[in-house]
Amino acid sequence: IPVDSFDLVIFGGTGDLARRKILPGLFRRYASGQMPDEGRIIGAARSDMTCDEFRTMVKEAVEEFDPKSAKDTENLEKFLERVFYVAVDAMGDGGWKELGDLLRPDMIRAFYFSVAPSLFGTIAERLKTFDLADDDARIVVEKPFGKDLETARALNKSLAEHFHEGQIYRIDHYLGKETVQNLMAVRFGNMLFEPLWNSQYVDHIQITVAETVGVGGRGSYYDTSGAMRDMVQNHLMQLLCLIAMEPPAKFDPDAVRDEKLKVIRALDPVEPHHIVRGQYSASEKSASYREDVENPRSFTESFVAMRCEISNWRWAGTPFYMRTGKRLKARTSEIAVVFKDAPHSIFGAEAGVHRNVLSIRLQPNEGMTLGVTIKEPGPGGMRLVDVPLDMTFAEALGPDAEEVPDAYERLIMDVIRGNQTLFMRGDEVEAAWAWTDPIINGWTNRNDVPKPYDTGSAGPDDALMLMHRDGRRWREIK
Ligand code: NAD
Repeated sequence: IPVDSFDLVIFGGTGDLARRKILPGLFRRYASGQMPDEGRIIGAARSDMTCDEFRTMVKEAVEEFDPKSAKDTENLEKFLERVFYVAVDAMGDGGWKELGDLLRPDMIRAFYFSVAPSLFGTIAERLKTFDLADDDARIVVEKPFGKDLETARALNKSLAEHFHEGQIYRIDHYLGKETVQNLMAVRFGNMLFEPLWNSQYVDHIQITVAETVGVGGRGSYYDTSGAMRDMVQNHLMQLLCLIAMEPPAKFDPDAVRDEKLKVIRALDPVEPHHIVRGQYSASEKSASYREDVENPRSFTESFVAMRCEISNWRWAGTPFYMRTGKRLKARTSEIAVVFKDAPHSIFGAEAGVHRNVLSIRLQPNEGMTLGVTIKEPGPGGMRLVDVPLDMTFAEALGPDAEEVPDAYERLIMDVIRGNQTLFMRGDEVEAAWAWTDPIINGWTNRNDVPKPYDTGSAGPDDALMLMHRDGRRWREIK
């Protein structure tokens, strides 16, 4: 279904994120018919370039980052006619009037801040000074949203001076992933799971976001951030919230976000011995973390694993284990709900222990698998095996199913529709920092040194111990 017509301004339209994700995503939405012909995209950045030069850059970005879609040259040419550019200095007054001249009245207006966070406040302020944004306009804010509670509060405050909360879309692209939304559909659309979704039946939950890449070109930023700020405070916390929250009364932005906020507030502080930090070592083919960030004395973590507890009636006694890191064995993101053993095995001890595991995969192959125990086929007697009930979306929905849109393009369409359900509210972000800050401050105060781990491993051995101590084990990273 096409969205209403809009003017979308991308501040930082020439940057890496815009070229890799935002612009190719918008092209796919155009080619699929969701972005209407009257929709316009206006790149706004520091570089002095003409509209034609920007269109060439957009075309090259689509060709480079989505070569498959770029083959649809007819639509690509039509899409490019909807793309404009104006050089704007976020810190000064240049270009703002020209930007205003390009914007049309009576259109939905959205401003995507795909620039360094230090510019968020000044752009918000100038949008008002130059009278470019009324009370219906939307602003989209990229991560990182602050680096601690204090900076996040200051940022919320500076945005709130010019925009009300209903206009602010804080992006966490994990929430735009198909499976993450499906998690809510599975939990709240079926009778099967919700009655079991509590500490009485769930032994523990594991959330893993593993990357194979190192810090790449983001070294200088990453070294001031680390895995806790870059991944846990936002993405892993969001996944934890969706898994753990109570059923909202309806699928509406504030109902969902109220429930997520309650989860964050119910999270216990994490004891130091329940957290393991790691830093990747060099391998034959790749440099060490410290070499990558060019800081031989860096104590920043590229890996973190932790055991968390949620103190409420539903979850008291069920640990949530989370881990994320770079240069690990495989690129995979998975949430696993590990159910308890059946109270009694009628098949005797030799049948072994079998547990139901609901695995929700964010990548690769988005989908869900429910591990169930059945009889091993054949004449061998009552031997039990675990088999997966596989719900890989691509397979289940068949070749004619619409292609799953990328997280960014889906979220941008939600901005145009004015739907904030999959965006973080200001109080959520602050609550997440309020939980994260004492952990990070503890490391700083103790001069905590991350444990080295091998590239291609599952992280430091201590992370394995975190589970073994509890008589549990991490699922394989594959
Ligand atoms: P980038 O450095 O590649 O691009 C920055 C953009 O900002 C450029 O278009 C530049 O012209 C513009 N800009 C800089 N100063 C300006 C000024 N004074 N006035 C107007 N425009 C100015 O950065 P990026 O990697 O695209 O990241 C943009 C934002 O997105 C950052 O907040 C980053 O943290 C966030 N982000 C990026 C990624 C990613 O994969 N690149 C992922 C998640 C979040």
